[in-house]
Amino acid sequence: MKRIILIGSGLAALSFIEALEEDVHVICLTKDSKTTNNSYLAQGGICFSKYEHDSGASHAQDTYEAGHLLGDQRVITSMICASYEAIQKYINQGINFDRQVDTHDFDWALEGAHTVPRILHIGGDRTGYGLMQHLTACLTRHSHITTYEQAEVIDLVHDRDGKICGVYMFDQNNELQQILGHEVVCATGGYSNIFRHNSHAASTVSSGHIIAFHHGVPLRHMEMIQFHPTLLGTPTNNYGLISEAVRGEGGILKNAQGVRFMDDYHPLGSLAPRDITSRAIFEQHQQCYIDIRQVRGFKQRFPGIYQQAQRYCSDDYSKGYLPVTVGAHYTMGGIKTDLAGRTNLPHFYCIGEASNTNFHGANRLASNSLLEAIVMGQHCAAVINQQPSRPLVDPQPSLVQIPKISEAVLKPLQAENEAILGIERHGACMTGYLTRLHQALEQAEHITLTQLTPTLWQRYVRVKMLEIICEAALHRTESRGAHYRLDKPKMQTALQQIDIEIVKGEDMHAQHIKRTRENQTVLPGR
Ligand SMILES: Cc1cc2nc3c(=O)[nH]c(=O)nc-3n(C[C@H](O)[C@H](O)[C@H](O)COP(=O)(O)OP(=O)(O)OC[C@H]3O[C@@H](n4cnc5c(N)ncnc54)[C@H](O)[C@@H]3O)c2cc1C
Repeated sequence: MKRIILIGSGLAALSFIEALEEDVHVICLTKDSKTTNNSYLAQGGICFSKYEHDSGASHAQDTYEAGHLLGDQRVITSMICASYEAIQKYINQGINFDRQVDTHDFDWALEGAHTVPRILHIGGDRTGYGLMQHLTACLTRHSHITTYEQAEVIDLVHDRDGKICGVYMFDQNNELQQILGHEVVCATGGYSNIFRHNSHAASTVSSGHIIAFHHGVPLRHMEMIQFHPTLLGTPTNNYGLISEAVRGEGGILKNAQGVRFMDDYHPLGSLAPRDITSRAIFEQHQQCYIDIRQVRGFKQRFPGIYQQAQRYCSDDYSKGYLPVTVGAHYTMGGIKTDLAGRTNLPHFYCIGEASNTNFHGANRLASNSLLEAIVMGQHCAAVINQQPSRPLVDPQPSLVQIPKISEAVLKPLQAENEAILGIERHGACMTGYLTRLHQALEQAEHITLTQLTPTLWQRYVRVKMLEIICEAALHRTESRGAHYRLDKPKMQTALQQIDIEIVKGEDMHAQHIKRTRENQTVLPGR
């Protein structure tokens, strides 16, 4: 029987399994519990523009513009087009998107940078949970799924011919294990939780990017990290996310003086794209709030956020204000793939937030990520369904050498990462920081996988990810979307078609390549 190794248990992973033929064995390896992932946390919803009069043209344009013209128009159009069938499939299976009480039509929601309401949601603000529940129920028909929780994958196995044929992982007892399979699918999510202020579910950083990097798979646009403007709370304490849909329903951003500052930054005011809103809040240098007094039926429409607000900020809530702070939320950068998750490495695929297809550009449009996870999961399954089985012979030992980073080395590098690679960046600061990251990696003793522990692996992943992000950010010599440089504050038209890829260079250093996108018709913004 064909055996597929699936890394991760989020929405991309479940959408993938749901679309697989039933006569394959899926081994799902996930580093936390199977329900600890960002997919369960998704609040606002999923874009569905199938019934819009322009066949998705304005959804594509909104995606392109929110992404500051860095997305690939062909990819954007194909992804949106593919989403119609992908989401319709779940509707036909009976998924419960919220509907209006009187008309029974879908209850379309509006979020930042969308020109029309086109977002479907479940349970008010529990869309991720609803999708995951739906897919989990669908998967009961697959009798050959084996899931290992607390199983962190750290490397790929290849055979004598260099073909990928499995993974190395730490099992729940922290023992190193080798697992063989015909195809390996990486659905490891994003890396925003490398920063202290973030909206993520887990505290350990996902490591699919590093694993791919070690095997020569290019990473693309790793500098593009979206900071969400409205985590509930203050810079010192935050308690989850306040979906953009709250602003779509009438919530207004105000500073501590009660001033609606967003009107000075963007014609869409509180519904401006996330990168612009986050920077505006950052520039206030004071606690900001969402005024929710105009949001009708807040408790019913946003039950999850209501619960958090009652628990942590009940005084503010009773006055109609929720305190907000900015935090890392979503990573547009990722492993370079096509829409079906194919990488340059045969038998190794990547889907969902871990990938980069050039769909989101420099800033993701709200509610486009769940869409991407579903489309890529289904398309990857369709490709793998066609792959013939093959004998799995001669797995080779891993040759990867991992720098052994101490806590003392990691701590100061981590403490500074938000100041250097956060909302505002500066070339000189990044140059100095990159030198220190290189020193940390070079000066460490290098060890083999058999000498590694999960703690040492995570320390290394953090430093290596920062090196990769910093190398990419330093070489995008402009400001665009989520990447804002104080020393290069303007967007450069000449860089609009330039992809920044990171590959493994000499001595395992992260090395950038500037690649001009081929054959793209670049459309102007509106
Ligand atoms: C609070 C919040 C709200 C959001 N709201 C929305 C929304 O309303 N609409 C929208 O479109 N998007 C939203 N997003 C973004 C969206 O939820 C994610 O982009 C999407 O769910 C990613 O799905 P995924 O399957 O790619 O990854 P994830 O759901 O992040 O899953 C990644 C999986 O990989 C596992 N993993 C990682 N590394 C390893 C390893 N080395 N070995 C084994 N396992 C590993 C993790 O444990 C996890 O199971 C939100 C995100 C957050 C955090």
